[in-house]
Amino acid sequence: MYRAIVVGTGPAGLTAAIYLARANLNPLVIEGPEPGGQLTTTTEVENFPGFPEGIMGPELMANMRKQAERFGAEFRTGWINTVDTSKRPFTLSLEGGETLQAETLIISTGASAKYMGVPGERDNVGRGVSTCATCDGFFFRGKKIIVVGGGDSAMEEANFLTRFASEVVLVHRRDELRASKIMQDRARENPKITWNLNRTPLEVVATGMGVTGLKVRNNETDNEEVIETQGLFVAIGHTPNTKFLGGQIDTDDLGYIKVKPGTTETNVPGIFACGDVQDHKYRQAITAAGSGCMAAMDCEKFLEGSMAHDWSQSL
Ligand code: NAP
Repeated sequence: MYRAIVVGTGPAGLTAAIYLARANLNPLVIEGPEPGGQLTTTTEVENFPGFPEGIMGPELMANMRKQAERFGAEFRTGWINTVDTSKRPFTLSLEGGETLQAETLIISTGASAKYMGVPGERDNVGRGVSTCATCDGFFFRGKKIIVVGGGDSAMEEANFLTRFASEVVLVHRRDELRASKIMQDRARENPKITWNLNRTPLEVVATGMGVTGLKVRNNETDNEEVIETQGLFVAIGHTPNTKFLGGQIDTDDLGYIKVKPGTTETNVPGIFACGDVQDHKYRQAITAAGSGCMAAMDCEKFLEGSMAHDWSQSL
């Protein structure tokens, strides 16, 4: 049995692991399908304090992982099917049948890219549709690409993709962008980006060989149009990864875990949440890392107070 299991390896989970490991609690850290989290699919991180010239997202995450390992955190890859939070120790059931037990849990499973939900989209993931410019941009050298979205992610992806593409068309369903001014300005100043605002995506058009266009409704004229493209990057936000908790931890209407104000405590004593899985407001690497530190400290305090607890007793 582990004193603490950390689920998820973004900045929140890895920071929690560093703090727990330095407190001699030998945490087990479970890496899911996207090790390192969203920063491994981003480009340069310019706003993480301590890196005046910026640092590439994957490098930052690799460094955090090394730092946690250095102090004794144990890592394993696994997909958690279910968690039993009804009694301590908590039981995690992994795909493949193995179970793990822990006195405390830190949930830092982050959030995953959203899809538009239009016909042709999911069928063509890997054949022209992507949610990760850093992963797939290279495949579209010299081609025209569409980026869908009006937030910071869309601006960032569009800018990054101009390194490869001959032209990046930004498609957004309103005429007003949600992105911050600095990100908008950067995209607007990029001569390779063209704008198709007020267009609602309706369908990804594809042949058996891959994507050929995006059908949209022009909200000014109400006409349908097809914008030709070979690559479509969907950058419309994220959904928190809480499904495996099976509704045992309180979440808000959007599925983000609720924590007690000023702490990382969930409604279940001994289970803590940090990072984007509980934060739809700030969603920054530095705030995720900060909340990971809080979760580890909350967890340590909980374990100190629970030393004499009889684990055979249910809650
Ligand atoms: P976001 O701010 O929620 O923006 C999502 C965009 O996608 C919105 O413009 C939305 O349109 C559009 N959208 C949503 N569902 C859609 C659908 N089904 N079809 C078409 N369009 C759809 O998400 P985000 O851009 O991922 O940013 C999330 C947070 O991360 C923000 O706080 C952002 O500042 C931060 N972030 C920061 C950086 C950076 O600083 N480097 C980079 C990326 C993200 P509407 O506007 O019409 O709702």
